Amino acid sequence: MILAVLLLFLLGVPAVAGAQLPIVDAHIHYSHDAWDVVPPKEAAAILRKAGIKRALVSSSNDEGTQKLVAEAPDIVVPELRPYRLRGDASTWTRDPAIVPYVEERLRRYTYVAIGEFHLFGADAELPVPKRIVELARQYGLMLHAHSDADAIERLFRQYPEAKILWAHSGFEAPERVRDMLRKHKNLWADLAFRSEHGAGGKVSAEWRAAFLEFPDRFMVGTDTFVPERWHYVPEHAAWSRGWLADLPADVAERIAWKNGEALFGGARPKTR
Ligand SMILES: [Zn+2]
Repeated sequence: MILAVLLLFLLGVPAVAGAQLPIVDAHIHYSHDAWDVVPPKEAAAILRKAGIKRALVSSSNDEGTQKLVAEAPDIVVPELRPYRLRGDASTWTRDPAIVPYVEERLRRYTYVAIGEFHLFGADAELPVPKRIVELARQYGLMLHAHSDADAIERLFRQYPEAKILWAHSGFEAPERVRDMLRKHKNLWADLAFRSEHGAGGKVSAEWRAAFLEFPDRFMVGTDTFVPERWHYVPEHAAWSRGWLADLPADVAERIAWKNGEALFGGARPKTR
């Protein structure tokens, strides 16, 4: 009897410890104003504490991503944001100086994606975004676009073989997201900075239908767009595990980490 209890205890502990679902976070920024508030070592510790297996990281400017790669090369998957400062988000499409900045970084470091960038409608046809798409093609990189459906369509017209990660699922309704996923087999969608799909720890009927139709195309993301959001990373991971538990286990695992791992997890940063 004592032996049986002991055995259960020994078997039970690792089972409980292993119950935490790993998370691949597809939407992390480590931008210039975060470096002092949350130093690189602390940022890496936050990711580990949150059970983040992998994080797709882009920063304004890219030095932030390189600082995090140095601290957590096993977790951080680098993507190149075409911004030198946060303010570039609203001006980059018309700023020719973005192009040499991006070209220089691409020569120096290895990335899996260019993004996350903000691009809407016909702005996708401007010379700077078009050049960025060309560079993505040349280097074989995904695009991570905070865009409306129109800009996503324009990106696919410029680069039909592109792999595009649609940031925030375009802040579109689940029906519209499903339409786009049906139309484009190389489109994935992150759920960063949205909460209605898992409000109260339950998955709404509309989102459930989207997740069950496309279990291989969604992934979670925190979006640390301001430094304070870094302290929210563990809570966001825990919240994600909560609503994911309302889905079939295999679908939950895919959205939590397997989809991100399949799309960009195998790519490792090059050491200089
Ligand atoms: Zn973002």
